[in-house]
Amino acid sequence: MALNIKLQERSNNSCELCSSQNEPLHAFAVPPKNNDSIDNEVVLCKDCYAQLSVADYSNSNHWRCLTGSIWSEVPSVQALSYKILAKLSAEPWASETIESVYLDESVIDWANGEDALEAAKIIHKDANGVILETGDNVILTQNLNVKGANFIAPKGTVVKKIRLVHDNAEQIEGKIEGDTIVILTKYVKKAV
Ligand SMILES: [Zn+2]
Repeated sequence: MALNIKLQERSNNSCELCSSQNEPLHAFAVPPKNNDSIDNEVVLCKDCYAQLSVADYSNSNHWRCLTGSIWSEVPSVQALSYKILAKLSAEPWASETIESVYLDESVIDWANGEDALEAAKIIHKDANGVILETGDNVILTQNLNVKGANFIAPKGTVVKKIRLVHDNAEQIEGKIEGDTIVILTKYVKKAV
């Protein structure tokens, strides 16, 4: 994929995160923005792109390049660097970098935008559309076949102190007969 000429110039035909020229170079739109402007995009080498496209932040040695790229003057590069550093904030060098840099608020909002949108989408509701929260008690609205444990929890069973499955609005976790199991929200109602 040929890069837009302006992106080539801005990036010097190298990765705007790690400076590698490992081809192919990709123009990566930093979500939640899209690729309708190069101002939304970051030039990435093959390696950075491969990891980012599957949200793999495990290679923290590789991502040390962000301690340099965060100081870029390009807002999209700042936003992407910040976004990845935030994922790595368990690493002292990453959290220190985040603390030491001054970024415009709009850049930080951009960096956090995708996660904020995701979080906003994940709302757990019971069979009646009542919002569920961690710690709620719920009642099964139908018999539930507990896989693995080989028994059926009857309709009307109270499940106390549920936990929300944070990345799936359809699922909660709760204990039935001592086993923690995943329960679909559409089969419960909140106990009052
Ligand atoms: Zn790179």
